[in-house]
Amino acid sequence: MHSTSAPAFTVTTSKQRTSQDERDKVLANPGFGLHFTDHMVVIDWSVEQGWHDARVQPYGPLTLDPASSVLHYAQEIFEGLKAYRHADGSVWGFRPTSNAARMQRSAKRLALPELPEAEFLESIKQLVMVDHEWVPSAPETSLYLRPFTIANERFLGVRAAQRAAYYVIASPAGAYFPKGVAPVSIWVSEQYTRAARGGTGAAKCGGNYSASLMPQQEASQNGCSQVLFLDAEEGKYLEELGGMNVFLVRKDGSLLTPSLTGSILEGVTRDSIITLARARGHVVQERKITLDEWREGFASGEITEAFACGTAAVVTPICCLKGEKFKIGDEEAPAGELTLSLRKELTDIQYGRAPDVHGWLQRLA
Ligand SMILES: *Cc1c(COP(=O)(O)O)cnc(C)c1O
Repeated sequence: MHSTSAPAFTVTTSKQRTSQDERDKVLANPGFGLHFTDHMVVIDWSVEQGWHDARVQPYGPLTLDPASSVLHYAQEIFEGLKAYRHADGSVWGFRPTSNAARMQRSAKRLALPELPEAEFLESIKQLVMVDHEWVPSAPETSLYLRPFTIANERFLGVRAAQRAAYYVIASPAGAYFPKGVAPVSIWVSEQYTRAARGGTGAAKCGGNYSASLMPQQEASQNGCSQVLFLDAEEGKYLEELGGMNVFLVRKDGSLLTPSLTGSILEGVTRDSIITLARARGHVVQERKITLDEWREGFASGEITEAFACGTAAVVTPICCLKGEKFKIGDEEAPAGELTLSLRKELTDIQYGRAPDVHGWLQRLA
């Protein structure tokens, strides 16, 4: 069943598979990123051999030389996508080729080897096939897939590693908003930025995340659930949250989102929302947006809704910016209408409840 360009995977199944009882317990309340399936994918890479030894093996700890470059110079990239169970039991990926392409762009920026798209797709299919029982079926649940590549050459010199490995692990994910979609409050980081011109902001790499953790703590200490980063040069323009892109909705029904300047991560969800909104006839502007425009628009009523988006939460309404008086919804009041209907349209496609007119779904199992 392999396509011609995809490598043959060796499959070694686990001798200690989780029992159905235990798995059912996990799937009844999976949370996020806490539990992992019985298997993982590994593909090795070296300068001499290229990608080789593609395999599915029992999930377990890695053996890494302490001199591995990833541990010292953070030469690492990752992806995040979900497998959704449809009502007929089949399992589908949402735009996985976009993740494959993005991972290649990230690899290029971090001087890591680029995994061919066909191998990326085959790797997630292989893992979902062997661990398909881990894909939950309750509403708004999924199996979260986490492909990642690390530099594992034993060498402390500072240069691109000549050995690397690609992995995929999978983790069942519960509904992000089990009690209904709740708006989040935003802390604007004035002191810290996430990414600068010419940096790695557009690459999905762990280093961007480590830089965002302290500002995220600051947000929590100030009673906010998310941090918003502004541009590094002028500290004036919206960029994104630690792991989600942002949109504003204007009273005329048009949408605004920061343009991709090179320091913003190009979200698959962001792109999907733009496509869905335009298909409904909404104007979507990708451009520079100042924080003042948001503040003033919120206060005057020109901006009526705001939301963040990404694979994990899909669409998260934003109710308020810390320190500002205006508010759109709160824990009790519902989120904006367009925010909720775009969220519904997207999840309906992902779960097979609405026709996939854009050809975004790929069957995995
Ligand atoms: C992954 C990520 C996003 C969202 O991307 P999706 O493809 O929609 O999940 C947004 N911002 C950052 C910094 C990210 O790492």
